[in-house]
Amino acid sequence: MNKKIYDVVIIGAGPAGLTSALYAGRSNLSVLVIEKPNVGSLLMAHKIENYPGINNSPTGKEIYTLMKEQALKFHAEFINATFLGFDLSGENKIVKTDKENFMTKTIIIASGWAKNSSKKLPGEGEFLGKGVSYCATCDGAFTRNMSVSLFGKGKEIAEEALFLTKYSKEIHMFVSDELEDFGDESLTATLKANDKVKIHLSSKLLEIKGEEFVEEVVVEESGFINIYKSQFAFLYLGTKSLKELYGEVAPSDENGYIITNDSMHTSIEGIFAAGDVRSKNIRQVTTATSDGTIAALEVIKFVLKKENLKAQYN
Ligand SMILES: Cc1cc2nc3c(=O)[nH]c(=O)nc-3n(C[C@H](O)[C@H](O)[C@H](O)COP(=O)(O)OP(=O)(O)OC[C@H]3O[C@@H](n4cnc5c(N)ncnc54)[C@H](O)[C@@H]3O)c2cc1C
Repeated sequence: MNKKIYDVVIIGAGPAGLTSALYAGRSNLSVLVIEKPNVGSLLMAHKIENYPGINNSPTGKEIYTLMKEQALKFHAEFINATFLGFDLSGENKIVKTDKENFMTKTIIIASGWAKNSSKKLPGEGEFLGKGVSYCATCDGAFTRNMSVSLFGKGKEIAEEALFLTKYSKEIHMFVSDELEDFGDESLTATLKANDKVKIHLSSKLLEIKGEEFVEEVVVEESGFINIYKSQFAFLYLGTKSLKELYGEVAPSDENGYIITNDSMHTSIEGIFAAGDVRSKNIRQVTTATSDGTIAALEVIKFVLKKENLKAQYN
């Protein structure tokens, strides 16, 4: 876990997230933007002719670069990572990614349109809840004496695998990286020393198979295709749909978009949503930047209020 406590962690570096980063950074808040590389509607836009003030029909990528430079100027930090989930059990909120977990006082969800994050692997949707899971800490207790597999990389998969050692008989960790390193030396050593754990490097999940429940996983490992018996498959690959990602923190509409009020508040204090990820009628760069502005101003109010309250009682 990264030790820093951010004022705000922003999930997404499209127009909504980058505008929030600009406003929050310019107000001296500590800001981290998590961005999944080469993803997002802005990057897909070939030519933008209706963003006021920029009159030379730039590509979405050009607008992205300009917006990011402006946020960097006001000290926003950026990390290339995939958001995986939240832990809201403590005083500070924890944002989990495939690289590292981050502590923060507030969160702005600005990860764009549903289709970006809802691409499923063969068998994933079919067996969701029937052996496919995104959370070993939630479902680990169901894996007593079973052979299970985990797919992903980084600290998240390592911590989840360690949790499973309490229950499962055999744990196959399929890691997309080439190195046996989970970003934490002692955690890596603990897993390597555990007889139940088998680490497979340079591997990629191709398919999950079974009848009623998961029975096998088909994996590509260093160019070879292998099939493993597995009664659970825990996935940390960024393939959750919007509802699966954010359902615990915010109600969604019938299409999975997050419902907020006009001030971008979700149903959880300190968590906001902005841009195309929100339930709304118009999805454009201008409406995304507008949402991002409002969300950041609400974050600034929220953080200042908390700090003043703390000062009053200390
Ligand atoms: C082909 C195309 C053309 C368009 N043309 C125009 C136009 O001409 N004019 C106009 O105004 N609008 C246009 N739009 C719409 C416009 O691009 C969007 O409305 C706008 O980009 C939405 O901004 P956003 O910040 O909400 O999301 P996005 O721009 O989609 O950005 C989402 C961000 O979230 C990140 N992200 C997603 N999932 C994760 C995850 N799991 N973990 C971490 N980060 C994640 C992505 O990396 C990205 O940085 C177009 C859209 C498309 C697809």
